[in-house]
Amino acid sequence: MATGDATPFLPERKSLTALRAAAAGCRGCHLHEPATQTVFGEGRKRSRVMLVGEMPGDREDREGHPFVGPAGRELDAALERVRIARDEVYITNVVKHFKFEERGKRRIHQTPRKGEVDACLPWLRAELDVVRPEVLVILGATAGKALCGSGFRLGAARGRPLESELAPVVMATIHPAAILRARDDEARAAERRAFVADLEAVAEALASR
Ligand code: SF4
Repeated sequence: MATGDATPFLPERKSLTALRAAAAGCRGCHLHEPATQTVFGEGRKRSRVMLVGEMPGDREDREGHPFVGPAGRELDAALERVRIARDEVYITNVVKHFKFEERGKRRIHQTPRKGEVDACLPWLRAELDVVRPEVLVILGATAGKALCGSGFRLGAARGRPLESELAPVVMATIHPAAILRARDDEARAAERRAFVADLEAVAEALASR
């Protein structure tokens, strides 16, 4: 069941500046109520690569920028390892407000429901229309299901080009937060290596274009 729709809040003029300004006032679903602010995508128009994650976390919600928390640091380190410059990349999320549950003083991330993802998708579609990346990188299962449908399975899809009309090259990997959730140091190191390997494939796809 749909829980809302961002469409009425989209501006007529589709530029990143206009979209960002309009998204700041989006009331397309209930997620804006407890959150601090809209966290819109960042990067240059016509960035060659677009990375799409799930939604902002606690830190992103407070600061108003995507991927600036611990998962963002994992992402930055991996991008550096594969020599993809951050200014070549547009980074965004399928859901633009932080969904959480309060436990004492902590705000615990909650996975957005399908209706919440669907409500927010018009923003991501508009970002894709403006940026038109050569390579679209899906970070995690929520983004994968949002962009490729409910049949998307990250395990089967990761690390290789996917059939899609969303961009000339579409690839999927884990959300970097998955590295932080690994059960111990060994598992974390393995997740990190696999993440870098997936981004290496992205760098190769980019270099071959
Ligand atoms: S989560 Fe998306 S649709 Fe919902 S209020 Fe925020 S920007 Fe609008």
